[in-house]
Amino acid sequence: MAGSGKTGTRTGATGQGQGRKSRIAKRTVYWGENAIVYEFERKAVKNMNLRIRPDGSIHVSVGRGVPASAADAFVRDNGERILAVLERFARTASTRVEPPRFTDAQCRGLFEEILEEVYPPFGERGIPKPQLRIRHMKSRWGSCIPGKGVITMNSRLLGAPRSCVEYVMAHELCHFIHPNHSSAFYGELSKCMPDWRERKALLQKCSDRL
Ligand SMILES: [Zn+2]
Repeated sequence: MAGSGKTGTRTGATGQGQGRKSRIAKRTVYWGENAIVYEFERKAVKNMNLRIRPDGSIHVSVGRGVPASAADAFVRDNGERILAVLERFARTASTRVEPPRFTDAQCRGLFEEILEEVYPPFGERGIPKPQLRIRHMKSRWGSCIPGKGVITMNSRLLGAPRSCVEYVMAHELCHFIHPNHSSAFYGELSKCMPDWRERKALLQKCSDRL
């Protein structure tokens, strides 16, 4: 059964009973020490059908008159193959490339260096140099608390092009002048980083691998 998540035979019973509401129950059988949990469904089919979905869920449909114990036996008989398929699915899922997770210490050098580069015009405006915090964040690249003089940078940015990190830093620093996203804020940002839109677009483009 190479390459397929199915065992058993699918029948030609098409459409019959589809309008009828079917009930799905969860059942558990044991194959060796492994518990196999599957969804049991009775519907208008001639044979027993077993399907293993890529998410690892197992579905068995049987004809109306077939007892659940027959489905249990069917799953148990196919236990070895089911577990092999589940293992293969798990392997495929875990070979998906997860982006690296960076520590604060790994990020600090670069982020401090970029702050040094982007900060001077803000210093000239009388803004004290902010303190950098680093966090792993899901939905924001950076944030700031101007009143406390703090900028928080997302550690995921360490995997981004440098120009994008510079953009996030400049964006947060501009909030120390305008704590909002007004047109004055964007005017300020354009003054200190005329190409911020391209940098932002680049960051958006590579965000799902960060
Ligand atoms: Zn902002």
